[in-house]
Amino acid sequence: MANGNTTFEDDTADARPSKFVLSRSNWASNTTGHFLDDDCPSETYVWTNSSRLLMNDSKLYMQAHLSPISLTYYGFCMGNGNYSVNLHFAEIMFSDDKTYNSFGRRIFDVYVQEKLVLKDFNIEDEAGGAAKAIIKNFTVAVTNNTLEIRLFWAGKGTVGIPFRGVYGPLISAISVSPNLKGLDLHTGSFTLRQIKAATNSFDPANKIGEGGFGPVYKGILADGSVIAVKQLSSESKQGNREFVNEIGMISALQHPHLVKLYGCCIEGNQLLLVYEYLENNSLARALFGPEEHQLNLDWPTRHKICVGIARGLAYLHEESRLKIVHRDIKAKNVLLDKDLNPKISDFGLAKLDEEDNTHISTRIAGTFGYMAPEYAMRGYLTNKADVYSFGIVALEIVSGRNNTSYRQKEDAFYLLDWVIYFSFSLALLVFHYGT
Ligand code: ATP
Repeated sequence: MANGNTTFEDDTADARPSKFVLSRSNWASNTTGHFLDDDCPSETYVWTNSSRLLMNDSKLYMQAHLSPISLTYYGFCMGNGNYSVNLHFAEIMFSDDKTYNSFGRRIFDVYVQEKLVLKDFNIEDEAGGAAKAIIKNFTVAVTNNTLEIRLFWAGKGTVGIPFRGVYGPLISAISVSPNLKGLDLHTGSFTLRQIKAATNSFDPANKIGEGGFGPVYKGILADGSVIAVKQLSSESKQGNREFVNEIGMISALQHPHLVKLYGCCIEGNQLLLVYEYLENNSLARALFGPEEHQLNLDWPTRHKICVGIARGLAYLHEESRLKIVHRDIKAKNVLLDKDLNPKISDFGLAKLDEEDNTHISTRIAGTFGYMAPEYAMRGYLTNKADVYSFGIVALEIVSGRNNTSYRQKEDAFYLLDWVIYFSFSLALLVFHYGT
């Protein structure tokens, strides 16, 4: 049903209790409880007003959804950020006349994102009588793409007017729209002010790392989203907008095993990249960082990390719209989220793999120890360069040893030598014991 610029979807088709209902589009709802001692022939979860309502937008309020205990709506939001939520109410079961119906009192609580926003809410009191509309507006921060609205009956008010079993929350409609002013994410562009507010003016206490490009800070945006801000140092600024354009294109890539680039900020002499924040830092730190930062990774987790990186790479090479050779796959460029899921980061060196690419790169870029020999020596660049680097990372994950750690020449350690030695010893053992 259309009402001004807003289209409302009918939620009354399947309003049975204790049932999780998925709507055709972006809503799901859940009603709990049964109306006990209900005098109606069948339990009433949707109430339709029988007479004409004398109010604006009366069509919107002709029917209302009811629940004996709680009524929860889950809205799926494409983007995280601030949303404007309107809850539409009108008391259509009681009346304002001198009849018994006018003694009814409906009282309930409303929670949005699990926060109590209306306590002991009485539609009639707020609207100034029965059959009158009242719209309650809230600005809500959505951080995990889900909006939750819960109406809850706390046992207050009347329970038998106009007939037995009339109580519990009642709602006529919900409308939600992105609050563009406050929508921080997915705009691709941030102001320096926003970033400064998020990182407390690049407070050293918020610094989480330092890469070839410059320092990385943790920050929290106004809407509550946690971000990692990479501050490109002036020397490595690469001083041009093409770089940012390329980053812009890459920000269109989305995959569970790629670190999401939310956007960037180019203001004054600042060039900043804004990423999703990953709680467990890099795989390199987890495997061979300072002892206090190392993580105890069990075999299923190590396996999950290997498979996750492979999935991310398969997406970059074959499944994404833009085919990309990452060129710098290494343990430092694999970040781990709070559940230790791996995500490939740092597309700074990524090269778009165009159809007519000759695959001969003029500028060799990558990290010592992870570069495929044909690429390091002859500049021959294909997806396989990433596959080689992935192989090194996989060996590091299995062995727990770093392929690139600097040592004196005499006691230099080469992971590949170690693997060959290890495989050779294993082969000898098998040969000896015949198993
Ligand atoms: P290089 O630039 O030489 O390739 P690097 O990959 O470590 O090195 P950055 O990508 O700039 O450089 O990251 C530096 C450090 O900042 C990482 O090692 C990690 O500890 C931290 N970091 C980077 N991005 C994030 C993020 N999205 N979430 C959490 N920590 C991050």
